[in-house]
Amino acid sequence: PICITDPVEEHRICVCVRKRPLNKQELQKKECDVITVPSKCVLLVHEPKQKVDLTKYLDTQAFRFDFSFDESASNEMVYRFTARPLVETIFEGGKATCFAYGQTGSGKTHTMGGDFSGRAQNASKGIYAFASQDVFLLLNQPRYRSQELEVYVTFFEIYNGKVFDLLNKKTKLRVLEDGKQQVQVVGLQERQVSCAEDVIRMIEMGTACRTSGQTFANASSSRSHACFQILLRQRGKLLGKFSLVDLAGNERGADTSSADRQTRMEGAEINKSLLALKECIRALGQNKSHTPFRESKLTQVLRDSFIGTNSRTCMIAMISPGMSSCEYTLNTLRYADRVK
Ligand code: ADP
Ligand code: MG
Repeated sequence: PICITDPVEEHRICVCVRKRPLNKQELQKKECDVITVPSKCVLLVHEPKQKVDLTKYLDTQAFRFDFSFDESASNEMVYRFTARPLVETIFEGGKATCFAYGQTGSGKTHTMGGDFSGRAQNASKGIYAFASQDVFLLLNQPRYRSQELEVYVTFFEIYNGKVFDLLNKKTKLRVLEDGKQQVQVVGLQERQVSCAEDVIRMIEMGTACRTSGQTFANASSSRSHACFQILLRQRGKLLGKFSLVDLAGNERGADTSSADRQTRMEGAEINKSLLALKECIRALGQNKSHTPFRESKLTQVLRDSFIGTNSRTCMIAMISPGMSSCEYTLNTLRYADRVK
């Protein structure tokens, strides 16, 4: 059980950490759990019985996470304290973004997309579904019902600097920027949805498209960013937009010294985009006039979400609890700490 205080509504940028439980294989291998979440801060347990303060391993003195979730937290709980406070933003004409960051296998897709593979009884919703559900709840409230609002979703993947439409057979799309720096993904399918069930069908469709043709050993999903967007339109005009991004595994950014040229290039691209993302979020948090969005396709496509007075963002840093993931976990925590 975890103890959480009320979410702070006013934050433009919220940074959280979520620890997943040890999985079956890790338990079989008697992997030890090196992470404990005593409250709002994270502790690292380096040796089974010896608790070590994380800050001793890092050059920063203190981490500033808004929330830390331990392995008992459900997707719904994580949603409630991360993306939920951002839903109203899009009804007020703003842009909201929520990112899942972390190493491959740390729980990004589980948190964002959920797991529908077991269907009915085992199906678990993720942030895409919870956010959509709340969009429809709000939409049907008296104050919004009369506003002629329509909801659309898009779902695309950015792989090695290229954009692919997950709601349209992975069609490769071009990104154009006009003279006013308005960025457009040409031909991106926007599917109108009228209830939460419609959205779930889109999530399933896009997810199936994302993982099709992948071999287990070389899953491109760990090397791509997936972006699910909820668009709110009022008489055809875009009112607000919520982008929910399942980022590429951050360990892939280190593939820059691989013997394989393709892998090296992909690694460099991932590295570049994650660095650019950090800088863009920081710029938003510090109200800077310059946002370095052109540094990567990911930040270029999300450009309008990093500017403007009504943009809010949330990052959820996912961590694996095992001793063998320690180095990556520290990398993830350092990155997340510096976003804010
Ligand atoms: P990533 O997308 O970061 O590579 P996944 O979301 O695919 O990682 O998670 C890897 C595995 O761990 C999946 O089988 C997933 O169902 C499981 N998992 C992740 N997070 C949790 C959690 N909080 N509780 C239970 N199982 C989880
Ligand atoms: Mg994944």
